Amino acid sequence: MTNMNKKIKPLIWVILWCTLGVNAQEFDILIKNGHVLDAKNGIDKVIDIAIKGDAIAKVGSNISKNSAGTVIDAEGLYVSPGLIDIHSHNFHGTEPNAYLSNSFTALPPDGFSFRAGVTTLVDAGGAGWRNFQLFKDQVIDRSKTRVLSFINIVGSGMKGGALEQNLFDMDAKLTAMVAKQNKAHVVGVKLAHYSGFDWTPTEKAVEAGKLADIPVMIDFGGSQPELSLETLFMEKLRPGDIFTHAYAHVNGRMPIVGDDGKVADFAREAQKKGIIFDVGHGGGSFLFAQAVPAMKQGFKPNTISTDLHTGSMNAGMKDITNIMSKFLNMNMPVSEVIATTTWNSAKAIKREDLGHLTEGAVADITLLNLREGDFGFIDTQRKRMKGDKKFECELTIRAGKVVYDLNGLAVGDWDN
Ligand SMILES: [Zn+2]
Repeated sequence: MTNMNKKIKPLIWVILWCTLGVNAQEFDILIKNGHVLDAKNGIDKVIDIAIKGDAIAKVGSNISKNSAGTVIDAEGLYVSPGLIDIHSHNFHGTEPNAYLSNSFTALPPDGFSFRAGVTTLVDAGGAGWRNFQLFKDQVIDRSKTRVLSFINIVGSGMKGGALEQNLFDMDAKLTAMVAKQNKAHVVGVKLAHYSGFDWTPTEKAVEAGKLADIPVMIDFGGSQPELSLETLFMEKLRPGDIFTHAYAHVNGRMPIVGDDGKVADFAREAQKKGIIFDVGHGGGSFLFAQAVPAMKQGFKPNTISTDLHTGSMNAGMKDITNIMSKFLNMNMPVSEVIATTTWNSAKAIKREDLGHLTEGAVADITLLNLREGDFGFIDTQRKRMKGDKKFECELTIRAGKVVYDLNGLAVGDWDN
């Protein structure tokens, strides 16, 4: 009996220690006291979020500090699903004079995503069916950022100049085939920069979208004379198709806000029909002269995106939090601004597994600081709008790992 006790007692202690030890580390990361904004689940309040592995394990009030290995105090911060940028350019490479397709104007994802709170980037047309595999090998598979793609209807992708005008390289069947073969990464079809007075490219892009059951994103304009936006919205595009550069005013494309200062009726009807109006700020496609009157008249974007490339990142665009801040200062409520870069974006690309903080969902999370002060914002005509609110990315979590931490919220002090 005594011998038995000698053998069993230590065993019981080991079992107890293991059980308690596991309980003490029930979660890997706990985000406490942050103001959570989750449009899908209708959450707009202070609540805690616990992460285990790469997933959200628990959303609830007063989750114990002792339950997690790392505790992040998010008091005073907004906690958002990881931001989704549905219009970006990331097919970077070294091919000379190839614009946004395996060339220098496109940017490597991880260098620009996490510091702006972005966990998912959607490359908008860099690759076509001919070079999608290269894009996957070179960028998608090498990035910590989740990189998705609108595949270009032009087989050789967004190489600029004459190549993007080649109607014979726009093949709906082959584009849809590569899209379906890469369902995990291809979320839509892109048409951009076509300058002919001709609906054929639009029709081919929509045909590819129908064949692969994915939306089309249209960067429209440049044709002389102009093609009608009303025809585009009401006759060519389907509900769920995406009109990017919503607040642009460029040659070859009629603006949403006309010379009379009013939002065109056909734009409102198109949004009602289900056309997604995407910001796609870029280096030439966002004017306060369009956005301010449109917002005053209640014409809001469905999604906010950057059109990130070397020509926009150091100009008025900067990053997605800067564009979100522009809309905050045009009196769009915080919860709506966050929805346009999370849940609305996920729905637009038919990736409803993303853009929310449901228990069991992937732990892509962004902590944002809403600063107050005197700020200035620049549009693509180098005009300034002053404002008193500005989002700053504090911390980004991608698949349960802290990948950006501006002020060291997730680490201990050096002298402790
Ligand atoms: Zn673009």
